Amino acid sequence: MRVELSFNCHFSAESRYWKCACSGPYCLEKTCVGKVCFVTDYLSASEHPHRELGCFNGSILEQCSGKMDHLIMKCCEMDFCNGNHSMLLNVTKNTGLSMNELIPMTVIPSVLFIVVLFVFVAWVWKTKQQNRARSLARLNDFDDVDLIKTSIAGDSTLGEFLDEYCTTGSGSGLPFLVQRTVARQITLVECVGKGRYGEVWRGMWQGENVAVKIFSSRDEQSWFRETEIYNTVLLRHENILGFIASDMTSRNSSTQLWLITHYHDNGSLYDYLQRTTVDSVGCLKLAMSIIYGLVHLHVEIFGTQGKPAIAHRDLKSRNILVKANKQCCIADLGLAVMHSQNEDYLDIGTNPKVGTKRYMAPEVLDETIRTDSFESYKQTDMWAYGLVLWEICRRTIVNGIVEDYRPPFFDVVPHDPSFEDMKKVVCTDQQRPIIPNTWCTESILSALAKIMRECWFQNPSARLTALRIKKTINKLKSSQDQTKQDY
Ligand code: ADP
Ligand code: MG
Repeated sequence: MRVELSFNCHFSAESRYWKCACSGPYCLEKTCVGKVCFVTDYLSASEHPHRELGCFNGSILEQCSGKMDHLIMKCCEMDFCNGNHSMLLNVTKNTGLSMNELIPMTVIPSVLFIVVLFVFVAWVWKTKQQNRARSLARLNDFDDVDLIKTSIAGDSTLGEFLDEYCTTGSGSGLPFLVQRTVARQITLVECVGKGRYGEVWRGMWQGENVAVKIFSSRDEQSWFRETEIYNTVLLRHENILGFIASDMTSRNSSTQLWLITHYHDNGSLYDYLQRTTVDSVGCLKLAMSIIYGLVHLHVEIFGTQGKPAIAHRDLKSRNILVKANKQCCIADLGLAVMHSQNEDYLDIGTNPKVGTKRYMAPEVLDETIRTDSFESYKQTDMWAYGLVLWEICRRTIVNGIVEDYRPPFFDVVPHDPSFEDMKKVVCTDQQRPIIPNTWCTESILSALAKIMRECWFQNPSARLTALRIKKTINKLKSSQDQTKQDY
C-alpha cells in the first residue's frame, strides 16, 4: 500500500461559522458548528481507510496544516462542505504481485522464478504481519494509534509537541487523532484529587507528568462540555489550566472519559491555603494571576484567531490550581458558558448541573438571575472571585497575624450547606464574610478588601468587572514595586 499525503487549506480572513458534518466522539446530532469544516482520512492499523468529520474553531491553521504520516486532512468553508468528499487518501495496490503480466505462461523456466518470487513475497508479508502484531500488543490492543505514534514520540517534550501545534497564544489543542494517541500512551500513577465528576490522577506521558481527569460515565455531559470548550476555543493562557487531550474509549462495555491537562504538583488553591501562609507579595501574586485568567476567559477576542467570551460559573478555590511559580491557573470548565457578540450566540451548554452552593451569588440563590443574558454569568463569577480573594487574604500574614484557613461563610452555614441555608444567609440576611480589622492596617490587604466588598453587591450590575479589578491590581502591584525600590 502506498499513501500520498497532501494538505489543502485555504482560509478567508472572514470569521463566520459554518454548519459541518461531524462524526467524531464530540459530535452532537452528527453536526457541529465551526469556523472551518474538516474531513480527515487516515489508515487504521490494518491499513483500512477511516474517516473523521468535524469542525475547528481554534487553531485552524495549525490543525489543518499539521503534517502527519498516514493521515490527510482537508478543510473547507461552507455549510456541510465536508460531507461529500471522495476518499482523500490515494491508496493504490502494489502491482508487484501481478504475475500474469510479469511472466508469460508459456515460458516454463519462468514458473520456477514465479515460485521463488512467491515464497519470497510470502516471507516478507509474514514478517511484516508479525511486526505489526508485536507493535499492536505494545499498544494495549488499541486500534489505529500506532500510525501516528511514531510522529509524536521521539525526543520531543510535551511542551514542544504542543507548541508545534499550538503556536503561542493561538492554539487550542492537538488534532483529535493525536489527542487520542497521547491519551492512550499515558500510565496512571496516583489519584491526586476527587471532584464532583470523578477522579483526577497524576499520569506519565513519555516521562512527563500529566493530570488525567477521569469522569464517571454518568457525567458524560461535563466531560463533553469541558472537552468542547477546550477544543473549540483559543484558551492557551498562563492562568488557565493547559489542555492536552481528551479521549473517550469503550472498554469491557463501559465508557471511559478522560481529560488530560498539565499537572500541577501544588494542587488546588484550596489545598495550598490549608498548608501554606503567604506574605502580601505572595497574596497579590495569587490574586493577580486569578484575575488575569478570569479576564482572558471573560473577554471576547475578535478576528479569525479570536475567542468567544466565557463565563466559568463554578469559580472557587478548589477549581483553581497553584503552579510551581506560585501563580494560579483556573481549572474545571465543565459548567462554562460561551458568548459571541460577533456571531450573536449564547451557548449555555446542556449541563443540568449548577455551581457550588457555598459560592453562589444572591441572584442564583433567589433565582432572579437573567439566564438569557451573558453578563449575568460573568457577574456571578465576580461574586465568587471576591470570596476566593477573601480566602487568600485570611492566609496572608499581616503584622505577624494570620487567620486559619476557612471556607467562605464557615461561621454561618453548616459543613455541606443546603440551597436554603445559603439563601437565608446571602439573600434574606444579606450577610457577607467578615473582614478582620488587621487588614485595614496594611495597604495591599485593605485595597483587596475594598475589591471584595465591590464584588459582593447584592445588585449584580453594581459589581466590579474582571477588567476593572485587573487594572486596580496592576496599579497596586506597581505601587508595591515602587515602595520596594524606595527602600
Ligand atoms: P471536578 O470537575 O470533579 O470538580 P476538578 O477539575 O475540579 O474536578 O479537579 C478536582 C481536584 O483534583 C482539584 O480540586 C485538585 O485538587 C485536583 N486537580 C485537578 N486538576 C489538577 C491538575 N491539573 N494538577 C493537579 N491537581 C489537579
Ligand atoms: Mg472542580
